[in-house]
Amino acid sequence: MTKFVFVTGGVSSSLGKGLTASSLGRLLKLRGVSVTMAKLDPYINVDPGTMNPGEHGEVFVTEDGGETDLDLGHYERFIDVNLTRSSNATTGSIYSSVIAKERRGDYLGKTVQVIPHVTDEIKERVKRLAVEDVDVVIIEIGGTVGDIEIVPFLEAIRQLRSDVGRQNVCYLHLTLVPYLAPSGEQKTKPTQHSVTELRSRGIQPDAIVCRSDQPISDGLKRKISLLCDVPIEAVISAVDAGNIYEIPLVLHEEGLDAYVCTTLGIDLDEHRIDLSEWENIVTRAAMADRKIKIGIIGKYVNLPDAYLSVVESLRHAGFHHAVNVELDWIDAEYVPGLLETDRLRNLDGIVIPGGFGERGVEGMIVAAKYARESAIPCLGLCLGLQVMVVDVARHLAGLDRASSHEVDSQTPHPVIALMDEQSSVIDLGGTMRLGAYPAMLTPGTQVAGFYGTEVVSERHRHRYEVNPRYRSRLEAAGLCCSGNSPDGRLVEFIELPGHPFWVGTQAHPEFKSRPERPHPLFRELVAAALERAEGREPHLIELDLH
Ligand code: GLN
Repeated sequence: MTKFVFVTGGVSSSLGKGLTASSLGRLLKLRGVSVTMAKLDPYINVDPGTMNPGEHGEVFVTEDGGETDLDLGHYERFIDVNLTRSSNATTGSIYSSVIAKERRGDYLGKTVQVIPHVTDEIKERVKRLAVEDVDVVIIEIGGTVGDIEIVPFLEAIRQLRSDVGRQNVCYLHLTLVPYLAPSGEQKTKPTQHSVTELRSRGIQPDAIVCRSDQPISDGLKRKISLLCDVPIEAVISAVDAGNIYEIPLVLHEEGLDAYVCTTLGIDLDEHRIDLSEWENIVTRAAMADRKIKIGIIGKYVNLPDAYLSVVESLRHAGFHHAVNVELDWIDAEYVPGLLETDRLRNLDGIVIPGGFGERGVEGMIVAAKYARESAIPCLGLCLGLQVMVVDVARHLAGLDRASSHEVDSQTPHPVIALMDEQSSVIDLGGTMRLGAYPAMLTPGTQVAGFYGTEVVSERHRHRYEVNPRYRSRLEAAGLCCSGNSPDGRLVEFIELPGHPFWVGTQAHPEFKSRPERPHPLFRELVAAALERAEGREPHLIELDLH
């Protein structure tokens, strides 16, 4: 019988429910329990695909092309499982299914209501995840108890306990224990109020995870235990960790995984934990004694969460090389004004991440050119590849005013354009290429060397492609298309022979990096950046164009 852990949050948003849930997932996995995870989001958007990354953070893309909440990225990185679109449901997606069923007449003339129809749909989504080889499904409920939108979700997970049996469900509630400097005390009142709110929806938490900047004392734990009616060992102190990958170790030390297993009837002797693999990651991170500086040149740099998976991939690569990756967030719009300053010159590497729309693109093209001419290692992701291609077109192939059709619909040379199914260029429309697609790498190229294989699969999320009409001119100018779609029509990877690392991919490799297995492109970017940082003679560009 599959068991369920539901993670709710109270007091404040951004307490790290996703990281707590992911850390628990990893701990259970380290005990040999098979885990899957999902997030229920109470907002009305059908998925986060249409939400502004500058406000909501990155859209995480799953193998099957689901556009999902960024917490799924944490889940995948922590439990090392590729999830699918069914691991994220929003109020919008739930209502659209219910309304579609109503239109089809599935409810046989009944009045369609939040209870039971919406709650049944929520339960259905949760139960669908309980497939045969999964021992535990961990479900995070977005938002905070007390929000108007969260009520149907709390009702659904309350009902689920009697549907699947009390012993198969564990409710975990995350709260904030603030420290008030004037009185020099940590306060439990917000926790009490939020547990009261949860109880008013019929849910008594099995365990309470208290987020705080100082450890919670035993006395305070006793107080929370008494007032919130949970055993003292079920009050977990989750003090701020310097590195998110330390959180599983902190929670294990506090006994969270053992307590959850006991609640769910999972035998601790049969499922002894082996932390060594995870401790290795944390130790490597702590060992890092060298430093490199990577500039992220994008348009949403005010909210680093907009590039969460890129940041994590760089950190994973840092763990691998035992180097601290310091980030310099550079607004692409300001790049032209930075050319004469030390800001760009001092970078050991550059990442030009994905993005949509016109803003900042010219600055990214300038950055790609600067990296190319100054031998700075540079990795272009999706839009990043596109701006690199535009740079080559304009400055090496002599295609004046070349651009992406997305940015300049009047360009005489649309080197990046929308494709129809026959790969001929069209002006409008274009559906998003989403999810995993294979690519064939050209033997002997840098990219093929990095991956160590010739067939790779990466996740995509874009509309525009390198225009095949310009391909031969770009190649004659020195660009190497080092990876292509299996039919050879779409460019998937580019590089520049002679440059230490000037690599672009039409895909989003950042979604597949793992702390214990950094993605090859990030690993090699950091290696090249390290080489530059350590002041070794940079390889100068010697392009043999003709
Ligand atoms: N806007 C570009 C496109 O649609 C790039 C998208 C991206 O970077 N994810 O092709």
